[in-house]
Order: sequence, then C-alpha cells, then structure tokens
Amino acid sequence: MITYDEAFRRVMLYTNDFGEETVSLLDSTNRVLAESIHADRDFPPFDRSTKDGIAINYATFEKGINAFKIEGVLPAGIPQQKLSDINNCFEIMTGAVLPANTDTVVMYEDIEIKDDIATIKSVSNEGQNIHFKGSDKKEGVTLLDKGTLITAAEIGILASVGKITVLVKKLPKICVISTGDELVPVSIKPLPHQIRTSNVISLQAALLKENIIADHLHITDNKKVLEDRVSKAIDEYDILLLSGGVSKGKFDFIPEVLEDLGVEKIFHKVLQRPGKPFWFGVHEVSKTAVFSFPGNPVSTFVNYHIYFKPWFKNSMGLFYSDKYVILENEIKIQSSLTLFLPVKIKWVEGKLLANKIENNGSGDLTCLTEADGFICLTPKDLAYKEGALVPFFATKHTC
Ligand code: AMP
Ligand code: MG
Repeated sequence: MITYDEAFRRVMLYTNDFGEETVSLLDSTNRVLAESIHADRDFPPFDRSTKDGIAINYATFEKGINAFKIEGVLPAGIPQQKLSDINNCFEIMTGAVLPANTDTVVMYEDIEIKDDIATIKSVSNEGQNIHFKGSDKKEGVTLLDKGTLITAAEIGILASVGKITVLVKKLPKICVISTGDELVPVSIKPLPHQIRTSNVISLQAALLKENIIADHLHITDNKKVLEDRVSKAIDEYDILLLSGGVSKGKFDFIPEVLEDLGVEKIFHKVLQRPGKPFWFGVHEVSKTAVFSFPGNPVSTFVNYHIYFKPWFKNSMGLFYSDKYVILENEIKIQSSLTLFLPVKIKWVEGKLLANKIENNGSGDLTCLTEADGFICLTPKDLAYKEGALVPFFATKHTC
C-alpha cells in the first residue's frame, strides 16, 4: 500500500485540460481566464477631478490672484470644456473632465463662494485633486494575464474594457455515481434497513462551488449492471466521482469493473484514515479520470478535498499550494496511517489556530457541519505539540 504523499503525487501527474469556451461577462465569474486582457484606452481615459470644487489655472493663483469668477458648473459625463479667461474658474464635480486650460482642483471645503466668485482659502500644490490620464495604466498594456481566476475585481476590469463575452477555461463534465443496495433517493422515506444517499449529493454541492453542475447516477451492487452503466458514463463524462464499493466486501465490485472497462489503475488503497480504500485510475482511451471513493460519508468528503480539489485546481491551471494552520492543543496519535482530523479554526492575534473536533469516525457525517476543514497528520512517534504547524484542507466557504 502506498503512502498519502505518494498517492497525492500520482494523482497530480494525471491533471487534464478540458479546452476553452466563450461565456457572457457575468457567467465568467469564478472561472479561469483563457485570453489576456489589454487596456483598450488609457486608465483613466482623461484627466478627471477627484473632488467636488473648482478647477483653476495654478499660474494665475501663483501670480497672487485668489478670487476667481465662476464661468459655469461641470458635471461628470460632459465633454471637455475650456475657460474663456484663465483668471476665471469652473465649478467641477468628482469624475468630470478637467477643463483644457486648468491644472488644479480646489475642493469646496477650501473655498468660499459669494456672488459667483470663488475665493480660495488654501491650495497645497499645483495639480492637486486630479487623477491624470493614463496614470494607472497606459492603453495597450496587459491588465489581466491568461490563467487568472476571475473574481468580482477582474469582472470590473473586463467590464471597463468592454468585454461582453470572455474566453475562459472549459469546465469538465462530471458524473457522481453512488453505489450500494441499501441506498434510497433523498425523496424516499427509508425502510429501517435503508439509508438515504447523502454523500454524492454533498459532492454535487461541493462541485457547485466550482461552478460545475454534476449529474448523479445511482447503480446497484450488481456487476453486470455496473459494467453496463459505468461504461456509458466513461464515454459521456470527463470525470467520474464514484462512492462506495471499493473495499473488501463481497459486493464491492468497483475495482474489478473499472479495470475490465479499460480504466488503468494508478493505485488502490492508501495508508490514510479516513478514506483508505480510495481507488484512482484513468481510462486508457477516453482519458476519463476516475476517482473512486469509499462510501463512508467522511471518507468521501475527505478524499474529495485532499485529492480531487487540488487535482481540479491544477487541471484548471490555477496551481494548488499547501496551506498550514497552528495547533492550539497537543494531539497524540497512535497510528501508522496518515490521519485527517476534522478541526475548527479561528484567527488569534494574526495566527490561524486549529482545534480538533471529537467525532465517531468515518461514518459520522454530523461532524462535518462543525468542521472548517481537516488537518493532515503524518505518522510519528511523538505527539504533535501545541504550536506545531500542520497542513490544512479547508472544507467551508469561510476559510
Ligand atoms: P461502502 O464503501 O460501499 O462499503 O460503504 C461504506 C458505508 O458508507 C456504508 O455504510 C454505506 O451504506 C455508506 N454509504 C455508501 N454510499 C453512500 C452514500 N451515497 N450516501 C451515504 N452513505 C453511503
Ligand atoms: Mg457499498
């Protein structure tokens, strides 16, 4: 059996590229940019006032004149104006174009206006309160690189350069597959020996966070039926996330079925808890990636976050990097397996501290609602001391 580090390394060798597609501006939110974006004009595109006040010619003020006749009022959104006499001024609003023969804006707080004459109380310097044309970015420069994750900030840039459609990395087509004859749909009242299928619905919810609407298929623990339906799914989808049927049970047919269908086994079983019977492979022809998780809800959930998510981020070109938290209390472990323990995290004086949550093992899905994520503890003889830095996998939005 391989270690968690080795399993992770192997999974990451099989990242994939799903191509590109064009989507509308708002639909590109949370997607990965597949083109570089250039400034279609200077940022800002004209000298703009950053204050409400008056626009003057500073040389006039320097000559000793501090009372200016007001020629008019300039709101934002009108073309550039020009003073008929440089001894005069315009009242100017924030965002308005600076008049041609002015170079300084004095805000209302620093002037007095009486009978259409503005008298200046103070000016700190020439050119004050002006956001000069091209001072942020010049026309033609790259504003966003290919491979950038598009958040609300990038949407603002895309909007300001007039992108009504955006080229983004295509998302994979994913099917989550539940297996197990004890499972019934969420809408059905289970008989005493049955349970509602919950973990694949949880996977679908996790995928929604990645903008992916995954299909759900349920297959009974019957080898022939499994072969038939998984084979069709391999043809139709880029990724299969299976749950259940990969352990040692008499009805755990998945590893056999996958190999019979031409999915190359990269590994089966990892020295970790929970999630030890994890099976990972890639179809020899279609290159469909198959993540086959053990069915216990916590196992499925942990494996999704520690394997699938980093694999998916790298496949999208976003590049996954490890995150760490600090243990608030000592943790003693007695295991030869790498442990993933649910924790609550909190910021204390600029440090992210983690506290272990008590739970009943991999069947206890109720602990997942309390947890912000999982810490990863590799086997070692001594306890993990208070203050130790350990890898952390976030499972909640808030982290
Ligand atoms: P298995 O990996 O098929 O041996 O399943 C391990 C445990 O997880 C069993 O108790 C199953 O009933 C449970 N389980 C399997 N699939 C699901 C599912 N989709 N939702 C909730 N529990 C499941
Ligand atoms: Mg099962």
